[in-house]
Amino acid sequence: MKELDQNPTQWFVFFKDQLLLKKERTEKGEIKYSVPYGTKPPLKPGTGSTIHEVFLPTDEMVHAFDIEQLVEETEDWIMVNLRGSYEYITLDDYKAAGKAYQILYWDQHSRFCPVCGTPTEQQTAIMKKCPSCAYEIYPPISTAIIVLIRRGEELLLVHARNFRGTFYGLVAGFLEPGETLEQCVEREVMEETGLKVKNITYFGNQPWPYPSGLMVGFIADYEDGEIKLQKDELSAGAFYSKENLPEIPRKLSIARKMIDWWLNQKEELKS
Ligand SMILES: [Zn+2]
Repeated sequence: MKELDQNPTQWFVFFKDQLLLKKERTEKGEIKYSVPYGTKPPLKPGTGSTIHEVFLPTDEMVHAFDIEQLVEETEDWIMVNLRGSYEYITLDDYKAAGKAYQILYWDQHSRFCPVCGTPTEQQTAIMKKCPSCAYEIYPPISTAIIVLIRRGEELLLVHARNFRGTFYGLVAGFLEPGETLEQCVEREVMEETGLKVKNITYFGNQPWPYPSGLMVGFIADYEDGEIKLQKDELSAGAFYSKENLPEIPRKLSIARKMIDWWLNQKEELKS
């Protein structure tokens, strides 16, 4: 293994989707959580786990590796799941943790060449190569759409069976081969709710590292149809006005950003 960079870096240490955080007590006695930082790994990597150099969009380099078992909470350490880590660390660190997790997930799921079965070799931070057939493997990104559907003064909110919690969110689904993003929006909305939509416009996008996605947000208008839920995916869904909104997603998601945008627009129209 090559020599590690001696400059101090952040260390993103995972057991499955659990991220290791350092606990420190401030002078006031409050507990502060942070991503471990230093020149050496805070723990020993698990057998067969590689220490990865992960390059963030800012060009900053951090390290990431897997461990073999959960670290029980002590005075110094805690492990929290990646989604939950948002509540503990800064937004930048949460985003970096997401990328680190995607790299580790890719590493674990690309140990053998999918073409000929030979063990792969890592060539760069984001490329592995098969030494036998030269097939190259990059971290996969699954693209999904998420759509806010407007009908007059209302928006469509649904409860998906895979939502963790009781909140209501937006219709979402994975892009299929050969589809444009707009076609994906139309198909997913039709499949899941039986509705036809129009005026599909881009809103924004967000890496969604659960485990390796990109969420692309769209705004659309209701065109036609009666709500007919796809029962194995959605357990509830209806149009809601601003005055009778159910519980909505937490701040970190693009769904919430889109709903907040819609709510603000209503405010602006009023004033
Ligand atoms: Zn191969």
